[in-house]
Formats: sequence, structure tokens, C-alpha cells
Amino acid sequence: MSPQTTDVLVIGSGFGGAIPAYHLAAAGARVTVLERGPRLATEDFTHDLDLGAYPRIVDVIKGDGISVVAGNCVGGGSVVYFAASLRAPSFVFDRRDASGRRLWPASLSRAALDPWYEQVEQALPVTKLDWPDVSYAGGVLAAACDRAGHTCNPVPVAVDRARCTDCNWMLSGCRFGAKRSMLLNYLPAAEAHGAEIRPLHEVQLIRPSTVPGYRYAVDYTTVDPADYTCPTGAGTLHTKVLVLAAGAVGTPVLLQRSALALGGVPPAVGGYFSGNGDRVSVAELDEGKVRSLLGLARSATVAYEALHIGMPITAASFDRLDARAPEFSRFTLQQIYFPTVTNSLAQTAGGRWSGVAKKQMRARWRSWLTVLAMTEDEAEGSFGVPPLTGSFTRLANGLGLGTMRFAPTAGTRRGWSEADTHARAVLERDGLATVRPWSEDVAGTVTAHPLASCRLGDSAAISALTELNELRTHPGLFVTDGAAVPTSLTVNPSLTIAALAERACPAIAARCAQYGVAVRYAPSDPLTGATRGGDIAAAARAVAARAGA
Ligand SMILES: Cc1cc2nc3c(=O)[nH]c(=O)nc-3n(C[C@H](O)[C@H](O)[C@H](O)COP(=O)(O)OP(=O)(O)OC[C@H]3O[C@@H](n4cnc5c(N)ncnc54)[C@H](O)[C@@H]3O)c2cc1C
Repeated sequence: MSPQTTDVLVIGSGFGGAIPAYHLAAAGARVTVLERGPRLATEDFTHDLDLGAYPRIVDVIKGDGISVVAGNCVGGGSVVYFAASLRAPSFVFDRRDASGRRLWPASLSRAALDPWYEQVEQALPVTKLDWPDVSYAGGVLAAACDRAGHTCNPVPVAVDRARCTDCNWMLSGCRFGAKRSMLLNYLPAAEAHGAEIRPLHEVQLIRPSTVPGYRYAVDYTTVDPADYTCPTGAGTLHTKVLVLAAGAVGTPVLLQRSALALGGVPPAVGGYFSGNGDRVSVAELDEGKVRSLLGLARSATVAYEALHIGMPITAASFDRLDARAPEFSRFTLQQIYFPTVTNSLAQTAGGRWSGVAKKQMRARWRSWLTVLAMTEDEAEGSFGVPPLTGSFTRLANGLGLGTMRFAPTAGTRRGWSEADTHARAVLERDGLATVRPWSEDVAGTVTAHPLASCRLGDSAAISALTELNELRTHPGLFVTDGAAVPTSLTVNPSLTIAALAERACPAIAARCAQYGVAVRYAPSDPLTGATRGGDIAAAARAVAARAGA
């Protein structure tokens, strides 16, 4: 049997995978995408409290000191995420380590990334919310901020407001086609250009190819759609260029396992893991004070008493993103909705899930305001010895034990502490609410924003990738997911992950051309196919030139 081959193999189909898949397919390359999770269409997403619905597409991966929530389906995290789409502030790109080394490449400033941010904002597209779009919970945070002398703003989201019903089941996938996930733009556009997407294909190993003209061989197993712990088959694909986008938990583990076969990988692979400085707290509001102090009242006819209504993230305070303030004192404070089931688990961990206490807690659910602070951490996490298969030891659908470890440094703790103090100053003022940090009570810190485990940079000592996302030791092997982002961002990360993936595409295309793939890359819109000019075209030419095109 002749070997399976492709020009560009993409591992993972979230932001980091879907974007290169589209651009390389549009450029004329044969593209194959291998995705571990299942493929669901808009009408397949179910909105009910059936606990079986979430583990089909969402994984909770418990590590030592950190737990990660991540998507597991075609479209990756973009399918289950809450669609807050923010550019990172300028100071983030200037961060340095204790030895004074830049953490981001010198070529990457906020201004340099702006054309790529714009490209993604137009492609998804991202919508600016107005106050009438802000949920009741977002309004409470905004009013509390205002009362405490702070500003709070509606958050830009990748949601089609005309289709959105404010149902608040975003974690289950959007069955109204309102959330602009990769399923609605980059992935179908890639397929329209001939890309093949294979769901339920989990990559296990990367090694040099023995097929003439091909650089990498990628071994995968196929997965039982009902039980992801059961392999159903295996195969190998040979590729000229490899794009690794298995997420910040998947990518380093795959590279670690493949290190021997690949003849070594950079030492920074699996180091510097960041949880984006995430810090979740629950504020239990005193409804009487909400009325008397803020002048707000929840409608008496809400559809679901125990569930929050509205998009999960609608408002955030950016007052503490002052570039002049010291490191670890800068953060965003954001209103966020968590499903009731998550909130109840948090309380269980606190030992209050029984008897009268349980009843009281249930009675207060509707008064919970969850807030997320995204602070500056020191990317102090690391990955241990990889498991024999997969990105983590899968215990069941939706649940795994990871090898990542996170022992927060003094700097990270300072960031969390500053955020806690600020949240209390805003929300506990005059007895409005009682704020309780949630993250560390449950399972170490909890993040839905894993980053930096295979980061790009200028220094080989502290970064695994070149400034153009290529693994330092392996030409033609690119990493384009959250693992490549060098630091925590103080905002939700998807737009930055996507912008960096866009920026990597001219460099990937340049490699394709060098390896004999006939490609003509030009930045274009996945929805219309229209080629982009202006700043984006200029930025693409600059990247291509640096990549040697
Ligand atoms: C509940 C939730 C809410 C969120 N809300 C927001 C938000 O509002 N705003 C925001 O900016 N960010 C949000 N995020 C974070 C955002 O979704 C992630 O930062 C983003 O999806 C990461 O993109 P990625 O390409 O790095 O990885 P992912 O999107 O995680 O994609 C990686 C893909 O690789 C697949 N994969 C892994 N290992 C393998 C393997 N071995 N073989 C084949 N495939 C593999 C995975 O199944 C997955 O589909 C949220 C995340 C969650 C979980």
C-alpha cells in the first residue's frame, strides 16, 4: 500500500490549527487536519443539564497545582469558549524575565501585531457590544465599579448578535450559529479549498519521514466516538510541512514524547507553562443592597431561576491595565458566567454540599456574580514525563490527569492578591457582596487559558520557537497555538493566539515553497475569499521576507 501523504499536516483544529489550515489550503497546498475530538454541526449542540453532553466536547485536565478546561472537538476551544475577543495591551509585549531578557521577540510589539488582530476581527467577525447587550450580571459589575470610582466597559465578542438568543449555553456549543467559532469561518473555508479534516484522530508521535520528499511522519490512532479511551485503529501520514496546534496542553506533550525519535527538541519545550494568571472569584450578592446601592433589580420573570441569563462575558474593567504600574499589579477584572454545575462543584470543595447548607447555597445561586481576573503570572509551570499516549492520561470522556505542574511564584501570588483586593474593594463596598476566591479552593489554580508551554522568542535559552513560530531544532515544524504565546496576556487570549497564527502563515507558506509545494499565499478573508491589501498585506510581505521567501 502506498503511504498516505500531504503537503501540510495540521494537528488540532482550534484557533491555532484552523487558521493555517485555511491559508495554506487557499494558497494551493494539500492540507490535512487531524483532530482528536468529534465533529459536531450547529444543530448537534445540546442545551441541557445532561452531564454527558459536556464531556463529549470539553475536557477538564487536572495537573499538580493547576487544572485546565479545554475544548475537545473539531474547532477546539472556539466551539466551547465564551467569545470575548480582546487585543492584549502594549506593555505585555515588553515584559522581560528576571535576567532582563525580552520574553516576546523584538519584532513583536502590539503595533506589529495590530494588522493581524484586525485581520482576525474582520474574519470571525468580532462585534462591539453596546450597553443594552450587557447581561444583568455585567450590569451589576459595571454599576459596582462605577460606585467605587472605576470604569467598566462592554466587551467585544465574536458573536452574531442578530442570531444570539442570550440563552447562555455557550459552553455546550452554540446551536443558533451565533458564536463565530472556527466551524463557521476558517474551517469550512479551508475545506472549500480542498483541505481534509479528520475528526477522532489523535496524534501520538512525530518522527522523521522515510518517504522521499517528505519531512515528517505523524503516527495517529483513531478514537471510538462513544469512548475516547478506546483506540479503534492506527495510521501514519507523511508531510512536507507540519503545523502543531494541539493546544498548550497537547503540543508540549507530543513534542516531549517525540523528542527521541526527532533527535531532540529545544529545552524550553514543556517549560514556562502559564495559566494566563487567571483568578476566579464568586461574589455572593446581597440582593437588597443591589437594589438600594446600585438601583438595579433582576426581572421577576427570568426563565431559569438558577441560571444566569445573557452571554457569559459581557463587561470588564480595564482600569488596572496601566503600563506605568509595576509588573504583577496589572490585570483585567471581568464578569463571567459559569454553568451552575461548575459553581456547585466549587462549593462542594468547600465542604458545604449537604443538608441545610446545601439548601441555603441553592437558594443563593441566583445571586452569584462570578468574576475573572486575568493577571500577570511568571509562566512558572512545567510538564513532567509524558504519558505513553495522548496529551494526558484520559480517565474518561471529559476527564484527564495531566503532567503539568504549577507552583505559583511570589510574583504570580502578588498579582492574584492585588486582583482579590481590588475585587473586594469594588464588590464588598458597603456590604454589597461577599467575595470568595474560587480558584485555589478547588484544584489548585483553574484556567481555561493555558499558554506558553512551547513559546516563541529571540532567546534559544528561554524559547522553543523562532520569532516566526518554527521549532528551533526542526525546520518545517511550526507551532501556532496557545503554546506559542510567550506570556500571560492580562486579557482573554484567543484573539492573540489567532493573530499570531495569522502572522505565522506567510512564514509557513515560505517553507512550503522551499520544500517544493506550489503555493501562492496572500492574506485573505475566509468568509469572502477577498484578498486583503493595506497594512495586512505589508505585514505579510515583511514576515515572508524574514522567512526567506
Ligand atoms: C469554557 C471556555 C471559555 C473560554 N472563553 C474564552 C473567551 O471568552 N475568550 C477567549 O479569548 N478565550 C476563551 N477561552 C480560551 C480559548 O478557547 C483558548 O485560548 C483557545 O481555544 C486556544 O486555542 P488553541 O488553538 O491554542 O487550542 P485549542 O482551541 O484548545 O485547540 C487544540 C485542539 O487540538 C486537539 N488536540 C489536542 N491534542 C491532540 C492530538 N494529540 N491529536 C489531535 N488533536 C489534538 C484538541 O482536541 C483541540 O481541538 C475559553 C476556553 C474555555 C474552555
